[in-house]
Amino acid sequence: MKDAAPSMVLLSEYRAPDWHVDHLDLCFELDPVATRVESRIRVRRAVGTEPGVALRLHGQALELLRLEVDGSPAEADAVTADDEGLLLTGLPDTAEITVETRIRPDANTALEGLYVSGGSLCTQCEAEGFRRITYFPDRPDILTRYRVRLEADAARYPVLLANGNRVEAGALPGGRHYAVWEDPFPKPSYLFALVAGDLTCVSDRFTTRSGREVALEVYVEHHNRERCDHALASLKRAMRYDEDAFGREYDLDVYMIVAVDAFNMGAMENKGLNLFNAKYVLASPDTATDDDYVQIESVIAHEYFHNWSGNRVTCRDWFQLSLKEGLTVFRDQEFTTDCTLFGAKRIDDVQRLRAFQFPEDAGPLAHPVRPDRYAEINNFYTMTVYEKGAELIRMLRTLIGRETFRRGLDTYFERFDGQAVTTDDFVAVMAEVSGRDLGLFRRWYTQAGTPRVTACSTFDASAGRLRLQLEQRTPPTPGQDTKEPLHIPLKISLVGADGDRLEARLGDGPEAQEWVLELTDAEQVFELQGLAEAPAAISWLRGFSAPVLLDAGQDTAELAHLVAHDDDAFTRWDAAQSLLRRAVIARVGEAPDGTLEATLIRAMAALLEDSRVEPVLLASLLELPAHRELMESFEHADPVVIFEVREAVKKALFASLEPALSRRQGDPGALDNDAFTAEAMGGRRLLNRILALRVTLGARGALEDAETQYREARSQTLRMGALAAVNESPDALRAELLADFEGRYRDDPLVLDKWFALEAGSQVPGGFERLERLLEHPGFRWSNPNRVRAVLGPFMAANHRHFHHPDGEGYRRIAALIEHLDGLNPQTAARLVQPLTRWRRLDPGRSTEMHAALEQLAGKRLSRDLADVVQRALAP
Ligand SMILES: [Zn+2]
Repeated sequence: MKDAAPSMVLLSEYRAPDWHVDHLDLCFELDPVATRVESRIRVRRAVGTEPGVALRLHGQALELLRLEVDGSPAEADAVTADDEGLLLTGLPDTAEITVETRIRPDANTALEGLYVSGGSLCTQCEAEGFRRITYFPDRPDILTRYRVRLEADAARYPVLLANGNRVEAGALPGGRHYAVWEDPFPKPSYLFALVAGDLTCVSDRFTTRSGREVALEVYVEHHNRERCDHALASLKRAMRYDEDAFGREYDLDVYMIVAVDAFNMGAMENKGLNLFNAKYVLASPDTATDDDYVQIESVIAHEYFHNWSGNRVTCRDWFQLSLKEGLTVFRDQEFTTDCTLFGAKRIDDVQRLRAFQFPEDAGPLAHPVRPDRYAEINNFYTMTVYEKGAELIRMLRTLIGRETFRRGLDTYFERFDGQAVTTDDFVAVMAEVSGRDLGLFRRWYTQAGTPRVTACSTFDASAGRLRLQLEQRTPPTPGQDTKEPLHIPLKISLVGADGDRLEARLGDGPEAQEWVLELTDAEQVFELQGLAEAPAAISWLRGFSAPVLLDAGQDTAELAHLVAHDDDAFTRWDAAQSLLRRAVIARVGEAPDGTLEATLIRAMAALLEDSRVEPVLLASLLELPAHRELMESFEHADPVVIFEVREAVKKALFASLEPALSRRQGDPGALDNDAFTAEAMGGRRLLNRILALRVTLGARGALEDAETQYREARSQTLRMGALAAVNESPDALRAELLADFEGRYRDDPLVLDKWFALEAGSQVPGGFERLERLLEHPGFRWSNPNRVRAVLGPFMAANHRHFHHPDGEGYRRIAALIEHLDGLNPQTAARLVQPLTRWRRLDPGRSTEMHAALEQLAGKRLSRDLADVVQRALAP
């Protein structure tokens, strides 16, 4: 990569297409070794362009067999081949271009375009995979209708699927057969999909509210037939929810989901034919945990919701990726909140945001929700575009109100149906329906970095007035040295000494108990009037109303008051997190804060005794901030010290609470069922969390409880909970149970991934040898991203002692493995390398070692995907 600085694509250089595509006919003669693709593209020159303007056909790694214009071979001097594909000049204003290409799916390990997974042929076209199938103007703002004919060997590939509705099928000579699919909805090429395989179909039906009968079909390998019920039930719930909550109805006669073993991402929303990583489809109580069940439901809903937010209204260019992803993540979060997890969902989401998106926004890969440049678009499928993008949508709703927001969404879908648009278009609709000026709000889309908000308050008892003084500041990020103030909605309320909410007026507003403070300047003052008493605590950032880091200077007593009384589950939990974070920070400074820890112990004791605290919330309240998140509290941190201090704080806080923990743990026998309800899952979550805490404390009977729970478990949630609890234990029990698990699920790759993850992530001695053994395990496959992620991911995220070994061996080993992976699957390599980009935030010794490993990697011949990430991480 030394000499190959990847060229940048710039938003400022966007130009509307010179050519439209009126129709596309595709014919595939499918074969894993040599697939022949014939494509007939009807093009029309766009109004306002020069006659004869060149037509760009993107193409990559294709063998061109034939190129014709209106039935005659293209003139040699009218065709230019370059890195991007072909450039055709001298075309008439309308033309039919015929392209015949040959591709080799079985050699495609990048898993973009047409490839082989298991015994099936399948596609992944987002973002730019279609150009690996045929020459075509592969950009999201070119929408057209597709007619697709698939031909294949009938015995090997009995199932032939593509987007839309199947209009024809039949036998062909020589044991072959065919199917023709037509999609009535114009779509961009990234939403194209086909599947050919020997799959079984589990089906169901759904009647939309306007009476359309829709066939629901889930295609899996034959032996997985019994594991599709949850996916189908989730799909039906999502379809109903989208009608009820968002007024969106499905539009084709069939909705198909295909589970694929080898898949780079979670799932893909191709029109009417979703392709899923099998991990997000297959579930049974014996193989999937509650978290898996929740994730499957969420991913199924997410891809389904894309039918409107993404497919019917799509992105003009890839800079607008958050237009579909931020909005769709917001929609799936709402679904899981309303249908499955309720209040716990927000806490889970904020935990993830803080552990992954905040570090991204503070590191070398920071970028705005709507980036303005990229070298490789695959590297922008990030937490920022997805999760922070969803926070932006949520803030818009907070600012303009639920009902107006819903009207805005309806207007957006109606106005832009069938079009490719921008995030600006979206915000403009919200401004229009609300009559609000959202000009300042748009900065959230263009400015990277997590804003810091500081707040302080002074109470004037004689006037009954609370004065709130707020400041915001966003630190510089790569390429953005100076930052502007953002439009930040801060939802707050006041908690009185007896724990009740206080009434007051914001400015000259009405009496209320909750207010949204709209920060728009760098510094601002708000006043709450008419208070009868001094607030004992301010509940800031209720529901996490904005993705900011807030420092309100609250003391231990005020935070403890919120832990005890706040009626907002998020802020209550967040107050506990603040106290726990402070306890860790104090001990990293080598001086435990006795007062703080005593307060925390009292607070935790009270929570454990309070039967009104729901198990799911209690489980979250007992948890310390994640290691990743704690690392962010320090400019330079020693990851092993952070881990050890985190464990020490757990022991200091909970050692004296062991009896109370045992009492709240719950009865494994009673909880061990497959009920998919918030209550049941909350009970299991609390059970597993307390078990893990008791093992960490070395509590009497804890290991025995873990063993019993493991051996008697009927559900994977309890089995995995017991196994995870002992995974850091030096006791022989750990090895014994893990060996048992490996034997039990050896032939079940998705479950075996859990074992890979525990083995790779454990810090017990011998981590490097274990890593070697895992890579040589008969179940491990470099060609399958799930396997690779299961081993490399936890090794980097959880095995601090080995990944962060002081002599740099962990970094060097990972760098070598990433280099190897890059030769097969650049996209996955570019994702997995990211922990190696954090070198600036480590202690000096490790920083040097990680930097050296990254530099060494940079000296190798790398893919564009990986080179892009490594270069940004090393940039001064
Ligand atoms: Zn998505």
